[in-house]
Parts: sequence; structure tokens; C-alpha cells
Amino acid sequence: MRILLLGPPGAGKGTQAVRIAQNFSIPHISTGDMMRAAVSSGSALGAKVKGYMDRGELVPDEVVIDIIDERLSNPDCKGGFLLDGFPRTIEQAKKVGDYLKKAGKELSHIVELRVPSDELIRRIQGRAAAGSGRADDSVEVAKNRLDVFLKLTAPMIEYYRTHKEACGSAVYLEIDGTDSIDGVFSKIMAELGGGAA
Ligand code: AMP
Repeated sequence: MRILLLGPPGAGKGTQAVRIAQNFSIPHISTGDMMRAAVSSGSALGAKVKGYMDRGELVPDEVVIDIIDERLSNPDCKGGFLLDGFPRTIEQAKKVGDYLKKAGKELSHIVELRVPSDELIRRIQGRAAAGSGRADDSVEVAKNRLDVFLKLTAPMIEYYRTHKEACGSAVYLEIDGTDSIDGVFSKIMAELGGGAA
């Protein structure tokens, strides 16, 4: 399974990603997690990306593409992987598409979690108010992340939906993300043909 999970901030992507990856025993590759780890470790990469993350902006494409190319060449990705939070722009989608094609590791499934904007704003505010522990989760920053999603990532999702060649032979699945965590997971598993939810 080589899965790409798409969806707006607040759609529950991270939670579903962990469960799907566990179910299929494939690495969960989250660029957000990788960059948060870089910031915490105080590495040069961390210093480069911290400001963007704190503001809820995207890290420049070339930085994130380098990180992901290296991660995908790791031997643990041989048997599949799940991408979460990457790609986020049309440029990233094109670059990773080329990379995966050359490596003979084209995506098998693209799973899009769909949640209406008003529900997302409600969730984002709830998460910020509850203090999720994420440094980038103040209401203002979370709203900025949603704006960035609408401006840069929503057009990328549209690009996948309308450009067959961008998806290659991957099966494109649209999942209603408004259900409970278990409900959404069951729907995804039913489509992917995984084990019991
Ligand atoms: P996430 O946990 O996926 O929401 O990512 C947290 C933050 O990391 C984002 O708000 C961006 O600043 C940065 N980030 C994560 N993935 C990407 C990406 N694919 N492209 C650019 N920036 C990213």
C-alpha cells in the first residue's frame, strides 16, 4: 500500500493516518511531525523551519521536498508508506509524483477526507481552546493554517481530482470526514480493504 492522505487542517488526518499505517504495518510519514522533531532537536533544519511553523505558514517547497525524498528512500518504505501532510502544494505534488514514478513506487491510493469549512473552524477553535499541546495551535495560527490550506492546498487537491496523470494508477477515494473517529476509520478501511477497525 502506498497511500496519500489528503484533507484540511482539523479533518482528523493525523489520527486516521496513525491508525491506517498501523493497520497495514507501513511507516506513517508526516512532514509536520518530522519538522516538529527537527525544531525540538535544535538542528539546523529546525532553525530554518521554526518561524514558518510558528506563523502557520508553509515551509518552502524545496526544503520539504528534500526531506521527503530522503525519507522515502529509506529501506522501511520498500513495502509501502502513508504520506500525511505532504504534498501541500501543486509544486510538491508534481515533484513527488516524478520522484515516485522514477523510483517505481507510484501511489496505490489517494484518500481525501472531506469536511465542510464551518465544521473545520469549529474543530480548530475547540482544539486550540483545549490546548492540544501543539505550539502552532493558537486560534489565530490555526485560522492562518486554514487560509493557507484554502489558498495553496485546496487547489492541489483539485489538481489531483482533475488531472488523471497526477494520480497515476492510484485509486482516488473521497471519504466524508464529519463522522466520529471510529466511523471515519471504518469507512476508510472498508474502501482500502484493511483488517477490522
Ligand atoms: P502539520 O502537522 O502537517 O499540520 O504541519 C505543521 C506545519 O509544518 C505546517 O503548518 C507547516 O508549517 C509545516 N509543514 C508540514 N508539512 C508541510 C509541507 N508539506 N509543506 C510545507 N510546510 C509543511
